[in-house]
Amino acid sequence: MRNHYPVSAFFHDRWLDLVLLLGFFGLLAWLGTLAVPYVQPYVEAWVEARLTRQFDGERAYRHVAAQVALGPRPTGSEANRQTAAYIAEHLAGLGWQVEYQDFVYRGTSGRNIIARAGQGPVVILAAHYDTRRQADRDPDPAQRGQPVLGANDGASGVAVLLELARVLRPARLPYEVWLVFFDAEDNGGLDGWEFIVGSTYMANTLRIRPAMVIVVDMIGDADQQIYQERTSTRALVDRIWAVAAELGYADFFIPTEKYSIIDDHTPFLRLGIPAADLIDFDYPYWHTTQDTLDKVSPASLERVGRVLQAFLQQGWLPPTPQPGQ
Ligand SMILES: [Zn+2]
Repeated sequence: MRNHYPVSAFFHDRWLDLVLLLGFFGLLAWLGTLAVPYVQPYVEAWVEARLTRQFDGERAYRHVAAQVALGPRPTGSEANRQTAAYIAEHLAGLGWQVEYQDFVYRGTSGRNIIARAGQGPVVILAAHYDTRRQADRDPDPAQRGQPVLGANDGASGVAVLLELARVLRPARLPYEVWLVFFDAEDNGGLDGWEFIVGSTYMANTLRIRPAMVIVVDMIGDADQQIYQERTSTRALVDRIWAVAAELGYADFFIPTEKYSIIDDHTPFLRLGIPAADLIDFDYPYWHTTQDTLDKVSPASLERVGRVLQAFLQQGWLPPTPQPGQ
């Protein structure tokens, strides 16, 4: 019995310790549970930010430089075919399903490129990748037979779509996204050629009806002012410019109509498909030999890319016209 006291004291003391310890951790766990609703949004936002890639103007600019390095890229030229291969390889490497759409116009072979991903109503984002074969607006008459390098008129729109292909996550968008690269847009008025040959071919051979078409053309100008194109579908234009304003780009996406332009959106408008042309037509180097890399800026490309990225992430669809309207 002499040991009775110390033994009972030993257990007594440890038992208290144990209760205090369990109580302490229980309290922590309970406080943690209370904190979950407050902490969860921050954790989710952090995870989402890690998963969401932001459109990068510098990366887009490198796509402009890569195209310009191939030289002028008119329909039917070797450089044109190399550009098509550059586009297709980039897209296939990112997991997009890529297809060529070949056609012949006035004895010259043309090639549209279509990349698809995602599920839902079809949204077409498009740009032309060919360049004008004569700089017929060059201030120097001696230069007017030279081809256009097309850093802005050609390469800039393509570059935006290629960088979008990297940052978009089509599985998380409520659309089937088509990135489309038109050939034979830009020889209109030369040797009896028309403009928008590739897009006209695609529109006339469509087997589905896209929900909307957005064309980007000449949007990389360092002095960027994108006015609203007059023939574009009003509701779609309003939505895109609203997104631009939300992103703080109201000085660059000016909510005022300025030009009416026949561009790659036109064949789709003719079919009654909602379509918009994003084009910065105030470009003094248009169809001259001065349409060179130094005229394009990463910041301009980035603004257009981020507007399109945010637009798609919002999941907007044009209103369906009611019978009788
Ligand atoms: Zn042009």
